[in-house]
Order: sequence, then structure tokens, then C-alpha cells
Amino acid sequence: MTTKIVIIDDHQLFREGVKRILDFENSFDVVAEGDDGSEAMGLVETHRPDVVIMDINMPNTNGVEATRLLTEKYPESKVIILSIHDDENYVTHALKTGASGYLLKEMDADALVEAVKVVADGGSYLHPKVTHNLVNEYRRLASEGTNNRSTYMQVEIRRPLHLLTRRECEVLQLLADGKSNRGIGEALYISEKTVKNHVSNILQKMNVNDRTQAVVVAIKNGWVEVR
Ligand SMILES: [Mg+2]
Repeated sequence: MTTKIVIIDDHQLFREGVKRILDFENSFDVVAEGDDGSEAMGLVETHRPDVVIMDINMPNTNGVEATRLLTEKYPESKVIILSIHDDENYVTHALKTGASGYLLKEMDADALVEAVKVVADGGSYLHPKVTHNLVNEYRRLASEGTNNRSTYMQVEIRRPLHLLTRRECEVLQLLADGKSNRGIGEALYISEKTVKNHVSNILQKMNVNDRTQAVVVAIKNGWVEVR
């Protein structure tokens, strides 16, 4: 199965860099590129990609607006925002419009590839720093006791924490600290591959779709320290 990808970014050099990274994967096919949000609809209509990689700041139609239009009309094409902005205003706005992923331009190539795979597979993917900011925002809302709570709070817990091994609990804590797989591997002196196995076991046991949900559920239930 080939994952068809469209890239929308106003910086040509950056776009080419992203394309080169993605083309390196056999299962990925970058089918089109555009340099403004206004082009996104036409390109998606023509190519019906599985994933659209979308910049935010562009000259005419920005990426958040383009994402809103796209996800309404073509829900089967998943959008990953790739931006320099990591503050929670941008992030929550982008997620509300239906983006499935939020990445930062400072990320490494492996994470980009992983994100596209996860999102193409129906999951969601946030840069660890973005997750960390969202967690802070969640704490702020929770401590204010407002009714304006995020839907993450309604995530149903079907499996108790005691199903997690001690090592999985350590990994969960490091996820909550905003660490990447590599960072977790370094902290626990284990390989990134082992970290990935632990993370997928945690997700399965907690019955959640992605690491962000796992962190939010864990915080909500007091299974991890927010530090
Ligand atoms: Mg831009």
C-alpha cells in the first residue's frame, strides 16, 4: 500500500527537503506540492492524497484555514501541520480544525516519517514539545475549574493501570515529560526500538490510540507526576 502525500509550504527549499526525506521511504509517494493554502483544495481534489503536510504561515490562505476547508470536504485526506509555532493557541486551533498531526520544523527526519505513517494509519501525532504545551494548557484549565474542558478529559478508561509493568510505568512518565523515543531510550539506557515496543504495549493496555491520549489519560488519573 502506497501512502500518497501532498506538501503545501511557501518555502520551496523547505518543501524540497521534506519531499526528499519522504521519497526515501518506499511506501511513500509525494504526488504534488503547492506553495499556498489556496492551492490545497485543487491539489487534493485531483490527487486524493492520504496525507497532506501543511505549513501555517503562507501568503494568501494560511494552513489552519486550508485545513478546516480540507477536512470538511475531504475527510479521508488527513492533514499534518508542520510549523515553526509551538504555542498552544496555534496548536489547539489547528487541532480543532481537524488536523491529525502537529509537527515542528525543528524535528528530525525519522520523526517526520513516523508521523506520516501513524497519521496515514488513522492515528494522530504531535511533536513532544507540542504535547508538553498542551499538557500545561490542560493543567491550567483543570486548575481553573472551568467548564471549558478539553474532550481529552472524556476519554474512557477501560483498563486499570496495574496492567502496566514497572518499566512501562517509567516509559509513561517520560512520555508525560515530553520526551521523544530517543530521549526515553537515553534516560532508561534502552534502544529506541525497545522504547517503541513499550509504547505500543502501553497504548494497547490503556486502550488509547496514541501517545498524546495516553499522557492525558495518565495525568487525569494521577498515574504520572506532572513535573
Ligand atoms: Mg511558511
